[in-house]
Amino acid sequence: MVVGENLKSKNMLKNHALAMSISDVGWRMFISMLEYKAPMYGRTFVEVDPAYTTQQCSECKFRMGTNNTHKLTLKDREWTCPNCETHHIRDWNASKNILAKGLIELLKPLTEDSPIYK
Ligand SMILES: [Zn+2]
Repeated sequence: MVVGENLKSKNMLKNHALAMSISDVGWRMFISMLEYKAPMYGRTFVEVDPAYTTQQCSECKFRMGTNNTHKLTLKDREWTCPNCETHHIRDWNASKNILAKGLIELLKPLTEDSPIYK
């Protein structure tokens, strides 16, 4: 299974630098290719909502920006969860959350709107 974030999020587009780099690398095209190539190789591709994939601790589900904590900024490449004290590498933590969201999507009954490509 391959899980990707749906990056049509407003926050991304509000950030000019990010919007530019996403269009530069053709992220949307990359995701489209995963969508149609995954089934050709017997894989399942799932697209998930990117909400909180960065801010949430993949161990205890604590969300930064709650309980008087600061939200992580782009400069925070590593951080320690104030709730469970797990030390995270930002993108590794986010990838665990993205995978978990993808697995949850797989467990839901399929509908026409399912973001799953088999
Ligand atoms: Zn935690």
